Amino acid sequence: MNAMTIPVALVEEADLNADLLAENVRLLQLDELKDELIATVSHELRTPLTSIVGYLELLQAPDAGPLTDQQAQFLGVIRRSAERLLSLVSDLLLMAQVESGGMRLERESVDVATIARDCLAAVGPSAASRSIAMELMADAATVFGDRRLLGEVVDNLLSNAVKFTPEGGSIAVRVGRLDDRVLLTVRDSGIGIPADEQKDLFARFYRTRDAARRAVPGSGLGLSIVKAIVDAHGGEVTVESAVSEGSTFRVVLPANHSLPAEERSS
Ligand code: ADP
Repeated sequence: MNAMTIPVALVEEADLNADLLAENVRLLQLDELKDELIATVSHELRTPLTSIVGYLELLQAPDAGPLTDQQAQFLGVIRRSAERLLSLVSDLLLMAQVESGGMRLERESVDVATIARDCLAAVGPSAASRSIAMELMADAATVFGDRRLLGEVVDNLLSNAVKFTPEGGSIAVRVGRLDDRVLLTVRDSGIGIPADEQKDLFARFYRTRDAARRAVPGSGLGLSIVKAIVDAHGGEVTVESAVSEGSTFRVVLPANHSLPAEERSS
């Protein structure tokens, strides 16, 4: 072969590689743009929505003045819709943060039992309104983690438990230490999850056939966010469930004392 002639096939292959590279760069840029767009839009929607929900709370406060039954009913509908929107927008925002360069943790010593207690108090009213009994058994269990994000984990698991448990059911939350790990379980007596769907639960936007059929509100983002947060803390989340018998979500996190001293907060 003459040193100056380059076979056509090689030239074509080089062209193809350059095209593929350019296409890859373009797709990466588009992906970044998508993340930025989701983050910006979610952020811009969150602020006014938070304000709407806050003012609705004021209107519904017992000392806000008399409302007719119909006004009270309408306010209830507006509030539920606004809260659904707020929760969807918050999930989208968190997902965008996870997607764009992973999750930045603001770590400190956090007691998971305290987080669970606070989250339980927050979902208490919606559970009580459907006669769902809630029980908490928690021993102090400290991890070196991000308080806000770990709150998201417990919030998501608990609000799912409430959503997917029919009236009169029960939810039990346990927090404790297991060797050098912290264990959190959220068990409900709800509708359960078919075995063949359990492997997909933690994928983005996944909703079980049953959830879609029953038109239970939700985006299918919550559990993917739970998994991303737990992974970022070096932990693991698993599920055990049987249809009509309920579900148990189990989160295992490294305990504070199991981390090297220089990584721990004082
Ligand atoms: P969302 O609840 O917003 O739909 P998630 O990602 O939190 O999204 O949950 C994904 C799906 O997993 C739900 O739609 C539901 O089908 C199922 N699921 C989650 N938690 C439970 C539970 N405690 N009991 C029954 N099904 C559940």
